Amino acid sequence: HFPLDPSRENSVRFMVRGALFSRVRPTPFRSAVRLAAASPAALRLLDLGPEIGANSHFVDIVAGNDAVPGVPSLAHRYGGHQFGFWAEQLGDGRAHLIGEYTNSGGERWELQLKGSGRTPYSRYGDGRAVVRSSVREFLCSEAMHYLGVPTSRAATLVISDDRVVRDAFYDGRPVAERAAVVLRLAPCWFRFGSFEMLATDGDTENLRLLADYWCGFAHGVMNTDNMSILSITIDYGPFGFLDAYEPDFVPNHSDDMGRYSYGNQERVGRWNIEKLGAALRPLLPAEQAGQLGTALDAYTEAFAAEWRAKFSARLGLPASAEAEQLARRLLTLMERTGADFTMTFRQLGDVTQEQLKDGQLPDDMWALRTAAESARLEGVGRRRAIADAEKGEFAELQTLLAVLERPFDEQPDAEERGFAGRPPDWAARLMVSCSS
Ligand code: AMP
Ligand code: MG
Ligand code: MG
Repeated sequence: HFPLDPSRENSVRFMVRGALFSRVRPTPFRSAVRLAAASPAALRLLDLGPEIGANSHFVDIVAGNDAVPGVPSLAHRYGGHQFGFWAEQLGDGRAHLIGEYTNSGGERWELQLKGSGRTPYSRYGDGRAVVRSSVREFLCSEAMHYLGVPTSRAATLVISDDRVVRDAFYDGRPVAERAAVVLRLAPCWFRFGSFEMLATDGDTENLRLLADYWCGFAHGVMNTDNMSILSITIDYGPFGFLDAYEPDFVPNHSDDMGRYSYGNQERVGRWNIEKLGAALRPLLPAEQAGQLGTALDAYTEAFAAEWRAKFSARLGLPASAEAEQLARRLLTLMERTGADFTMTFRQLGDVTQEQLKDGQLPDDMWALRTAAESARLEGVGRRRAIADAEKGEFAELQTLLAVLERPFDEQPDAEERGFAGRPPDWAARLMVSCSS
């Protein structure tokens, strides 16, 4: 499919038919671009060293100013269930697949720019992303990787002098913010919504092609257009991390009903897989289609087993029903005292064998008290990475990346700068929105 004429954009319904991709170029920036940060480990996946950052042709490619010679760029057409309702065609509205690369280890990576300009799927959007959301996606993708969570990766972050207007206000006036581009990597970018779109079209031919190209899946979170068919975490938009443990925690301020609350993710995962099953139904013989419900039960069982294993491990115990009980009791206590989720488990790592009675954790858990009582830091260092990057200063951003690369190590320097302390008060009220 070839892109629509952008000058006609208000007179057409932006519906593309019979295609999985549209061939479309990123939009070059009008003004200067700078490489704000690069993840050395993500660059290594492309057999590149950090010195590539000094190469202006490379920076132009990852800014979307220039193309990889001889490689067409594509925007993917997908649909999705958003907040429980079929949202029709969505697609890459501000992302371009700029190539795939098989590295020296034989791994295949798809390179995708995000924030790289309009596509036939932009609807009324400008195809751009601002610095705050790009910094968050860049840092969090890499942080999640180092935390051991399967995720898309972020290799580079480019910040331009072009300005776009979003939902940020200062003194009641809208603020123009710098536009940025992140180079994201994943083995593939297909989502549940890729299949749902073709099934809704009644396009069994392309649905079969896609299903044959693809061969297995597990679960993820959120809207079905944000559920990777690889079950890796993708689309770092209005995400958040738990501070105090609250199952009802909702980071996305447009999620009024709390559909995607921390504690509801298991149920939403199941709901989404049900939708994927429905999309694949046209490809299945009747007796297999009748077994889709059983497949969903396997999800529930796998989730429960994984929960037990993960939370037992967090207590330093082998997986067992008893360890699970203990973990549930601890979570209830944490909920009651407002203990910090990360710090509580981190501090449990410092509990010595002598401090445990009969190998059982005492009710008035030492770690809990310490976590709950430790003083709140007054916002030291927080958010400066984003404010600095907006001003063209990238040192804080690069420091944060280096800290996040070693989440399980003691890092006294980082601790001194407040990175290991309790989150500041304002963090509890931080709500972010989609599509900034
Ligand atoms: P998300 O909430 O990030 O999953 O995005 C939902 C849909 O909106 C996707 O189809 C995006 O490509 C599209 N979108 C988000 N922001 C923009 C933008 N600034 N310009 C064009 N499309 C956008
Ligand atoms: Mg998305
Ligand atoms: Mg998004």
